[in-house]
Amino acid sequence: MTSPRDQTLLQEIFENSPAFIAVLHGPEFIFEKCNPKYYEIVGHRDIIGKKLIDAIPEIVGQPFIDILTRVLETGLPFYADEIPVDLMRKPGGTLETRYVDLVYQRIMDHEGKLNNILAHGVDVTDKVNARMKQEEADRLFRTFADAMPHMAFIADPVGNITFFNKRWYQYIDGMEGTEGWGWKEKPIHHPDDLQRTIDRWTHSLKTGEPYEIEYRLRRHDGVYRWHAGRAVPYKNHKGEITSWIGTNTDIHEMKEHEGVLKEIQVELEASLQARDEFLSIASHELRTPLTALKLQSQSLHRKLEKGMSQEISMERLKSMVGITERQIGKLTHLVDDMLDLSRIQSGKLTYKFESADLVEILKDVTERMEEQFSVAGSRLNVRLPEKLILKLDRFRFEQVFVNLLTNALKYGKGSPVHVELSESQNKALLSVQDEGIGIAPENLELIFNRFERAVSANEISGLGLGLYITQQIVESHGGKIWVESELEKGSIFKVELPL
Ligand code: ADP
Repeated sequence: MTSPRDQTLLQEIFENSPAFIAVLHGPEFIFEKCNPKYYEIVGHRDIIGKKLIDAIPEIVGQPFIDILTRVLETGLPFYADEIPVDLMRKPGGTLETRYVDLVYQRIMDHEGKLNNILAHGVDVTDKVNARMKQEEADRLFRTFADAMPHMAFIADPVGNITFFNKRWYQYIDGMEGTEGWGWKEKPIHHPDDLQRTIDRWTHSLKTGEPYEIEYRLRRHDGVYRWHAGRAVPYKNHKGEITSWIGTNTDIHEMKEHEGVLKEIQVELEASLQARDEFLSIASHELRTPLTALKLQSQSLHRKLEKGMSQEISMERLKSMVGITERQIGKLTHLVDDMLDLSRIQSGKLTYKFESADLVEILKDVTERMEEQFSVAGSRLNVRLPEKLILKLDRFRFEQVFVNLLTNALKYGKGSPVHVELSESQNKALLSVQDEGIGIAPENLELIFNRFERAVSANEISGLGLGLYITQQIVESHGGKIWVESELEKGSIFKVELPL
C-alpha cells in the first residue's frame, strides 16, 4: 500500500518525467493513463478511454499490437532500443518516423489482475538522426576518398592511421596490418626512405606542422614508385587537432624527368668544362711551336745582320730551316687535328676510297718519320709483306699511321718501336708496339675518347685528339682499333681491317 505522500510523489514523477509513460488495459489496450510526454509524442490526441487502434489508428500494420499481445499473454517484458514508430504528430497530419527506446511491461490493474501494460520509453529521434547524419557524412567521405586517384588516409592525433582508401589497398594488393603504425613494419617504404618518413611524420605530429615528404613506395609487383606524401591537421572548434588527413600522390614520371634533366645539366656542365680545358690546352700546345719559331726567326735575323760582316755557313742555314720546318709541321698537325675534330662533330669528315697498297703507304710514312725517330734516340723495326691491296682513303690512312707512330715515339721513352703488318682470314692486322710508359687498365678504352688522356699535360703535352680521330677513321673503313698494355710495360696498338 502506498501512502498519500508516496502517491503525490509518484504522480509528480509521472507528470514531469522526461520519459513517456502510458498504461493500457486489457487485450484491446484501452488507454487508462498517459503523461504529458506521451501526449507530446502522439500529437496531443484525445486518447484516454479509447482502444489503441482507435486512438492511434496508424499503429495498424506496425509490430506494436503483436508485441503488446505477447507481453500481456506471457508476462515477459519487451525492451527495444531505437525502434522506429510512424506517428501522426498533428491530427490529420502526415506520418512521421520517430525512434524510441521502449519498454512494455505487464502490471496489475485496479482489480489486482495482471491485465495492464505499462508502456514506457524515451524519444531518441534527435540522437538517432544526428548519428545517421554522421554515418551518411562518413559514407559520403568514404565514397569520395575511394573515388579519387590518390591514396588517402586519416590518422588520429597521435598518428595512428584509422583509415586508408581503396587506392592504398589496391597499391599494396590488400596487404594486412598497415593501419595504425603498422605500415612501418611492412615492406612498403623504400628502406632508404623509411627512417626519414618516420622522423618527418613524428615531427608533424609533435608540432602540428603540415607533413610533406617525397618517398618511394613499393607497389604489389615489387616496383618502387616515387610519391609525394602530404597530410594536414584537422582541428575542432576549440582549435585542437582531432585528426590528420593525408594523401600519397604518384610523382614517379615527374621525378624521372627531373633525373633526366639533372643528367643533361651535368653533361652540359662537363662539356662546357671540357671546352674550356681544351681551349687552354690547345692554346698552350699552339704556343710552344710558335715560340720556337719566333726564337728561330729572331736568331736568323741576328745572323743575317751579322752576316754583313761574317759568313753564315750553308750547314747552319740548312739546320735552321730544318728546325723551322719541324715546328711548322707540328703546328700544321695540331691545326689539322682540330679541324678534323670539328668535321667529325658536324659529320663532315668525308673519305675518298680507292684501291691502294697498304704496304706502300706504311713504307712512305716510316721513311718520312725515320729522322724523327733517330733524333729521339729510338729505332723503328718494320716487318711488312710484299703487298696488301685494300679499298681505303690513302690520306686518312697515312694519318692513322702517323698518329700511332707519333704516340709510340712520345710515350715510348726512346725504346725501339716495332711495326708489323700481316694478313690472315681475310683481314689485315697492323700492330705498333713500343716499350714505353704503358697504360693503366682503367684507361685502355677511355683514351679513344676525345680529349681523354692518361698522362698529365705537364708530363707529356697533347690534345687527346689523335686516337679519337684514328678510331673514327678505322671504324669508317669497317675496321677496329684497340690497345693491349700494362703500366711501364709498353703498349701495343692493333688495327684490324677487312680485306
Ligand atoms: P695525345 O697524345 O695528344 O694526348 P691521343 O689521343 O693520341 O692524344 O692519346 C690519348 C692518350 O693515350 C695519351 O694522352 C696517352 O695518355 C695515351 N697513349 C696513347 N698512345 C700511347 C702509348 N703508345 N703508350 C702509352 N700511352 C699512350
